[in-house]
Amino acid sequence: MTSLEDLPIRDDLRGKKAYGAPQLDVPYALNTNENPYPPSDRLVKALGEAVMDVAGSLNRYPDRDAVALREDLAAFLDADTPGAGLTAGRVWAANGSNEIIQQILQAFGGPGRTALGFEPSYSMHPIITEVSGTRWIDAHRDEDFGLEPGRAVAAVAEHRPDVVFLTSPNNPTGTALPLETIEAVLDAAPGMVVVDEAYGEFRREGTPSALTLLEGHPRLIVTRTMSKAFAMAGTRLGYLAADPAVIEALLLVRLPYHLSAVTQAVARTALAFREELLGTVDALRAERDALVGWLRGEGFAVADSDANFVLFGTFPDRRQVWQSLLIRGVLIREVGPPEWLRVSVGTPDEMAAFRNALKESR
Ligand code: PMP
Repeated sequence: MTSLEDLPIRDDLRGKKAYGAPQLDVPYALNTNENPYPPSDRLVKALGEAVMDVAGSLNRYPDRDAVALREDLAAFLDADTPGAGLTAGRVWAANGSNEIIQQILQAFGGPGRTALGFEPSYSMHPIITEVSGTRWIDAHRDEDFGLEPGRAVAAVAEHRPDVVFLTSPNNPTGTALPLETIEAVLDAAPGMVVVDEAYGEFRREGTPSALTLLEGHPRLIVTRTMSKAFAMAGTRLGYLAADPAVIEALLLVRLPYHLSAVTQAVARTALAFREELLGTVDALRAERDALVGWLRGEGFAVADSDANFVLFGTFPDRRQVWQSLLIRGVLIREVGPPEWLRVSVGTPDEMAAFRNALKESR
């Protein structure tokens, strides 16, 4: 039997473990921040028809530049953030925002270059960074999971990274960043600044999107996804908004025909049903706020959340609590600072199951 160690794998990949959030078949999956509401019958039918429409020409490659999809995404973002002035030339799409991040690092990172982030944050930022041969620098979030602008600017000034990652709302803490922090980092950064807004649609009132900063900031990239609020995680569609020159840079590294005709058709159909799909966001935000209140009432420490998940603690042995919930059919996520756990916001039934299981696990 050949083992991984026997292969002439890159030295910098030796000893690394594959990304592995457990994918278990459980009654209550509250571990990967998906939207718990499946598409309606009407949408399922429309998706089926959209796939039928492209099926007859699957002998041909898809539109390499996904122009129609990017036009639809730009129209959606423009309506979502009035005044952002987005057009297809300022929007790019790929297989999940993970691939978007990979393309950004392929274009702007690489050997001899650095990317800086503020952990605890999305665990794939350092992983994709390192796999692209870029060196990762962790400049840490503040104790309360926020990011004091002066400290963020000092970290950027000290390390002068080629790419800065700001996640807002942040995974796994739920913390949204004020625009002033993002602007301060943009002013200080010598390279690209990526604001990962995978959970942007779940923000509470009063925290504007970084999309509003695009004008006049050609080194800003705002990434979004259809995996979370848009309830289309299975589609694998992530996208970004940036200056047209940034998209020109990404065209240098993307693989030709990276977005299948099926993906493009499904994503466009989902965008046409945006009202249905995003119609669950308000209910999920209300459920989140109720969950935060309940956990605090039970005496837990809870991070303020602008996302569709909640980080709570603190547990001297979080693994034991995680396992005790799992035995009761509730799968949450062991992620973030060592004494904390993260739970995704589900349906009212799922949340009731979580609350009961947690009470029994204390
Ligand atoms: N960014 C953040 C902050 C995330 O939490 C996730 C998914 N967990 C992603 C990006 C990637 O999502 P996707 O590839 O499904 O778009």
